[in-house]
Amino acid sequence: MTESTGGIYLDHHATTPVDPRVAEAVMRHMVEEFGNANSVDHVHGERAAAAIEAATDAVADLLSADPADVRFTSGSTHAIELAFSHALGTAEGSPLRVALSRVEHPAVIDMARRAERLGMATLRWIDVAPDASIDLNRIEGLLPEIDLLCLMAANNEVGTIYPVAKAYELAAAAGVAMLVDATQGVGRVPLDLSETPFDYFVFSGHKIHAPKGVGALISSVYRAENNYGLSGSHAATPNVPGIVGLGIACRLMSEEGAAEEQRLRGLSALMRAELRAAVPDLVLNGSDPRLAGNVHISAPGAPNDLVVARLRNEVAISTGAACMSGAQGASHVLQAMGLPQDVQESALRIGLGRHTTREDVLHAAQRIASAIASVRTSLERHNA
Ligand code: PLP
Repeated sequence: MTESTGGIYLDHHATTPVDPRVAEAVMRHMVEEFGNANSVDHVHGERAAAAIEAATDAVADLLSADPADVRFTSGSTHAIELAFSHALGTAEGSPLRVALSRVEHPAVIDMARRAERLGMATLRWIDVAPDASIDLNRIEGLLPEIDLLCLMAANNEVGTIYPVAKAYELAAAAGVAMLVDATQGVGRVPLDLSETPFDYFVFSGHKIHAPKGVGALISSVYRAENNYGLSGSHAATPNVPGIVGLGIACRLMSEEGAAEEQRLRGLSALMRAELRAAVPDLVLNGSDPRLAGNVHISAPGAPNDLVVARLRNEVAISTGAACMSGAQGASHVLQAMGLPQDVQESALRIGLGRHTTREDVLHAAQRIASAIASVRTSLERHNA
């Protein structure tokens, strides 16, 4: 997808464009069907309430979840906060014993660290291998000593898909609760909450072509204690357009997600092959199973900020996690993988998406390769 400004967009792990079919429904629910779903004394409110019910069903269908467990939030960060505050409340006076992978998103890590600082949690860290994979035996070994296991469905930098269903079986057998951050995995990774009813499951609409600022927490334990809305007794006015958009986006993922993944797998293989042919000493980071649209590379000798700056108006790719972009500092994911310094410093995350075409991939690969070559040449001259 070549935009008139900003170039080819290949940063779909950061966010995705709203699908026009989603945007049409969102617009309708702002302009025409604008009722308050909590004010059902008239048709406007009734229609809004029905729209929310339909969206709830669409979310539940995509994940084979119980619609009664779906609670809409402003996104994953908000859902993670709700999940954590609920889990902390179950610890009854003693600190919650939490284990989390070192490659969780900052939304999980920051929440866990805050609880630790406040004396409300103790943390055990789950290491990853240099290819970002996680050893289930390591998780199993920790289970007797923890109350809550946090494992993401798929990593937002290197795209690694984690065995959350297997981890759940182990955790459930040990009586340990589990929080799954499925922000990158929903619609892309097979997830069946009827078979693996994770205690807390979160995701965000804007990663699946719905608007920003809407997401969900799916949890039967949270539901059981929060029947009256987020703030105790008052049910807040729901974000009807956003929730409707999330529902349509989930419906589209149910219908088209598998085919989309297959197409993206082909395109990302093409991208890797093109880059490998054009960039000497290219390093491919991460390993399978991985998100179909993820390509994560390093070009030692070409610092990533210089490469990204050279591509600025032509190809939108990223130096790392969405939340780290703009901030200086190494990626905690690549650090946890123990990658050599020059591999970390030259890491580039490329995320293909629904509207990426073969032509986009060929053109972007050529532009990325020449940006890397240009950075390497100028640094070599500078250092000569
Ligand atoms: N978790 C993961 C894996 C993510 O990729 C992101 C966003 O980048 C989040 C959580 C936070 O999502 P949001 O900013 O929509 O709350």
